[in-house]
Amino acid sequence: MANDVSSDRPIRLAIIGVGKIARDQHLPAIARDPRFELVAAVSRNAVVDGLPNYHDIGELLAAGHALDAVSICTPPMGRASIAMAAIDAGLDVMMEKPPAATLSEIARIEAHAIAAKRTLFATWHSREAAGVEAAGAWLTGRAVERVTIDWREDIRRWHPGQDWILEAGGFGVFDPGINALSIATAILPGDWGVQRADLRVPEGRMSPLYADLSLTCGAVPVTATFDFLHEGPQQWDIVVDTDGGTLTLRMGGSILDIDGAITEAPDAEYPRLYARFANLVRSRSSDVDVTPLRLVADAFLVGKRDVVGSFEW
Ligand code: NAP
Repeated sequence: MANDVSSDRPIRLAIIGVGKIARDQHLPAIARDPRFELVAAVSRNAVVDGLPNYHDIGELLAAGHALDAVSICTPPMGRASIAMAAIDAGLDVMMEKPPAATLSEIARIEAHAIAAKRTLFATWHSREAAGVEAAGAWLTGRAVERVTIDWREDIRRWHPGQDWILEAGGFGVFDPGINALSIATAILPGDWGVQRADLRVPEGRMSPLYADLSLTCGAVPVTATFDFLHEGPQQWDIVVDTDGGTLTLRMGGSILDIDGAITEAPDAEYPRLYARFANLVRSRSSDVDVTPLRLVADAFLVGKRDVVGSFEW
């Protein structure tokens, strides 16, 4: 089953975890990318029409398909055992964000991939948003004074019925919030830390629906508000004040506003992720940056938790 990456043939891929993001983004991106051939799907309940479908990765591997890689789109809890099984089978692995439920898990997966000489791509789709690369370039060499992150969305609109998000290991509002941290740590590489976190957890649930964070990037103060019960206009903004003007990334990084000069481009996050995965596989290299996950883990460690009213869908 192990892959031969030296050839020019498509990378034979199985998708694992057929839910919202797999259907909305992964399947269309794979279908349009000639560097990939989708061979099979794995999900406990869902199926992809026109493909062989399997209940779990054990069944997939036992079926004996010629396969090079898997793309894992399940929730973070339970993803580690899937990734380890894929690597053991000689497959390259691409993972949705966040790459695992804990830092220990992603460290173990990464060590396993290195030992087995497999490609591991821990994706951060928001880093592929249209304005992010240009934002990082504009900020290079400028003195940053403060960063303000506002990530406010309605869980009922974007994640209807996804109870796993509010379970232990589901990340709660950090499921979207980690996207903001993935962008911020990409455009402002440096020494990031969490100073304070106020978390609001609904009664009877395990993960927060609201978080207010004070962070630092070197000496720069960073505030972040993550609100999962926001019903007004949805907001995914990062504002960076510098000595040379103010940069704002809006709509999750797709709109770049530098002192009122706006640049916008069509969304291509997932096509860019698959292009990157193809390059990593062909060059036998990996991309695993745990910085956003580390900040979320630290927020849970230092976070003051308040239990608030219950949440129902
Ligand atoms: P989802 O709609 O709940 O889909 C995940 C699928 O994984 C489920 O439909 C389920 O299909 C399967 N699954 C396997 N083990 C599971 C478990 N223990 N609990 C629940 N489902 C399980 O979730 P999603 O929105 O696609 O998110 C999946 C991952 O993508 C998350 O890490 C999320 O952060 C990331 N992501 C989501 C979005 C978004 O907008 N939704 C955007 C970017 C990234 P079966 O029942 O058939 O097994």
